[in-house]
Amino acid sequence: MVYLKAIEAHGFKSFADKVNIKFDAGVTAVVGPNGSGKSNITDAIRWVLGEQSARSIRGVKMEDVIFNGTSGRKPMNFAFVRLVLDNRSKTLQLDAEEVHITRKLYRNGDSEYYINNEKSRLKEINELFLDSGLGRNAYNIISQGEVDEVLKAKPDQRRGLIEEAAGVMKYKLRKKESEKRLED
Ligand code: ATP
Ligand code: MG
Repeated sequence: MVYLKAIEAHGFKSFADKVNIKFDAGVTAVVGPNGSGKSNITDAIRWVLGEQSARSIRGVKMEDVIFNGTSGRKPMNFAFVRLVLDNRSKTLQLDAEEVHITRKLYRNGDSEYYINNEKSRLKEINELFLDSGLGRNAYNIISQGEVDEVLKAKPDQRRGLIEEAAGVMKYKLRKKESEKRLED
């Protein structure tokens, strides 16, 4: 199984200084006082995987992810997050034992994604994670309220979750794309 080895962040929310948070295999617990940045770590993971909704990562507009300064420190001009994934299992279909996913956003709105230092599009990142059990919409981050959502979901919504877990989403998406091509 692919696993998260490290998160590098610079200019993302409260991480004004470049941080490199390393994870060992197994369970990691992050502890700290209120407001110290624990949730900003999961926000960083969602964001680098392509989160498009500022609200989902507790902001109003996307620019809110950029460090906006403190009394003693100037705001920054960009936010940078990189995930370092152990891909020795080759779960992600890339010929690399380590996969880096990077997202950068500048205050002027310019945005960049990279897969292993190669400039990429969000679509490519989504495809890389499709059916891997990772990715922005997979259930690797369970936030408060999401357990309730599953319990309250309608049958077709719940079916979607099971299909994602079973790894058939990729084929459904391809079927839809080829049907669309036939129509065009
Ligand atoms: P709790 O225990 O209350 O859940 P937490 O450890 O999860 O706290 P976070 O919510 O991750 O804390 O961090 C919130 C902190 O991040 C706040 O102090 C907030 O000011 C800071 N923060 C959020 N966005 C930015 C930003 N763009 N620039 C600077 N600081 C930011
Ligand atoms: Mg929190």
